[in-house]
Amino acid sequence: MIEMNKDKKYRQTLKYKLTQKRYAQSSKGKKNHAVAQRGQRQRRRKEALQALGGECVNCHIDDVRCLQFDHINGDGYKDVSYKVPLTKYIWIRDNSEEAKKKYQILCANCNWKKRYDNNEVGRKYD
Ligand SMILES: [Zn+2]
Repeated sequence: MIEMNKDKKYRQTLKYKLTQKRYAQSSKGKKNHAVAQRGQRQRRRKEALQALGGECVNCHIDDVRCLQFDHINGDGYKDVSYKVPLTKYIWIRDNSEEAKKKYQILCANCNWKKRYDNNEVGRKYD
């Protein structure tokens, strides 16, 4: 307990704060931060995929590399939640019942086919 208090006091010193700041601004610190963020993003994405079933609703492929979140009503352009990183994934994970009404999992191929069939793409491929 005494050790912990000592540690907490040390973390409040200017010396510690400056050391932390210098590390965060160094190339090594930035790189480690980016790696940690990527790992967190991938974990959150996997959790959200699992909450929605974890496979393409059309062809049942379950490879996370090609799965995408599809807006069931095709109104993705109205969705601004992507502007704040990870909020959508966390919301889907915590509100999976409500999220199932709004999103579904499609693989990249099925998603593009759906977009084409529903005229959601700007350019027509004919
Ligand atoms: Zn599919």
